[in-house]
Amino acid sequence: MSLAPSNAAIPTTPASALPAARASLKPFDVALAELLARAAPLPGIETLSTFDADGRVLTQDLVASLNVPAHDNSSMDGYAVRCTDWKNSNTVFQVTQRIQAGSNGQALLPGSVARIFTGAPIPPGSDAVVMQEDCETSAAGTEPHPRVRIQAQPKPGQWIRRCGEDVAAGAVVLHRGERMTPASLGLAASIGFAHLQVSKRVRVALFSTGDELVMPGAVAPADMRPGAIYNSNRFFLKALLQRLGCTVSDLGIVPDRLDATIAALKGASQQHDLILTSGGVSVGEEDHIKPAVQALGELSLWQIAIKPGKPFAYGQVKAAHFIGLPGNPVSSFVTFLLLVRPFILKLQGATEIATKSIALPAHFDWAKADKRREFLRVRRDEAGGLELFANQSSGVLTSAVWADGLVDNPPGQAIAYGDTVQFLPFSALMS
Ligand code: AMP
Ligand code: MG
Repeated sequence: MSLAPSNAAIPTTPASALPAARASLKPFDVALAELLARAAPLPGIETLSTFDADGRVLTQDLVASLNVPAHDNSSMDGYAVRCTDWKNSNTVFQVTQRIQAGSNGQALLPGSVARIFTGAPIPPGSDAVVMQEDCETSAAGTEPHPRVRIQAQPKPGQWIRRCGEDVAAGAVVLHRGERMTPASLGLAASIGFAHLQVSKRVRVALFSTGDELVMPGAVAPADMRPGAIYNSNRFFLKALLQRLGCTVSDLGIVPDRLDATIAALKGASQQHDLILTSGGVSVGEEDHIKPAVQALGELSLWQIAIKPGKPFAYGQVKAAHFIGLPGNPVSSFVTFLLLVRPFILKLQGATEIATKSIALPAHFDWAKADKRREFLRVRRDEAGGLELFANQSSGVLTSAVWADGLVDNPPGQAIAYGDTVQFLPFSALMS
């Protein structure tokens, strides 16, 4: 950025009153580390039905008190055999028992087989299962038992699921700090947990700042006054918070006035762990977040060296954390995913916080790289590479809908078609 030389007619601002941002932008990794250092896991544990714990963070290790499976069992419908009894494909076996899932078999008599079904325990004496498709059966007729011939030589251990092959008794199956997923709910249930101890939901107060904001539904598009815009940030921020399992108090739109901003922050600080705002975090005359937070607590106003999303504020308002996101919708969206999401995960006590990027080829050119680290809206194409959304402006929310992730591009790095870049999928950033 180049500025005109100072003009004597314009009153000069003392250096101490200049926004710190002019001095330096904070590198993204430094900002994230500082933010996470302030996010001590919140106290408080809830016991929930395992059914209700999807997305919640465990506050206990889950230790298996049994083996899964608890017994060697069949992974096929077929016949349980003793391999050494098979001599050739003419060997005839008598079917002397029938073992279903949930029942127990008897020891296998020499020369006999057991009819067995998927999940049923392997009877003592048997060392393999032959799938029914590989057997020839004869009806029992007047004989006490049906008979079976087995076409191919059975191999010891075939079609047997071993006791403890999934989970061994005594193992820590899921750890404190893990976020439950549908699969881990099933795993917890498989070792008998009907209830789980998880961290409490983070209570978030959300509000938007800006006199230009109008709620959709309040005014029809044709009747919008000049300069008015619909409040879009409120919708995606609320949804993103809810996806993270937060309880959200939506405090609406706060006008661009210092007294109103102070009153809103003060009210919000009482029953919430985090106050999240969008807009008003720059240092313009209509940006009241900074003085309002300072009046009630402490504020670190950060200008982060990322694009989109430079203005960002962190502070404390009484006992509550405060985070101020930029007003531009894409900046607000991206800084939520990159900074607020990890912050909330840490408050929840989660241990896996970083999102792993995937190396993929760029199917675009990006010649005009910015000095800041950029997060470009891209999506995967059918050839396994990444396409770029044409308009990367921080106001163009269409880019965030079209895209399925972000390219994390280092400062000043131009990208040529075919270069390997780091892709952060939205599927991971929004789960
Ligand atoms: P600010 O950070 O308040 O200076 O806002 C930067 C830009 O984002 C301005 O163009 C605002 O009109 C716009 N903006 C601020 N808040 C919102 C919002 N909640 N929804 C949509 N646009 C917004
Ligand atoms: Mg504003």
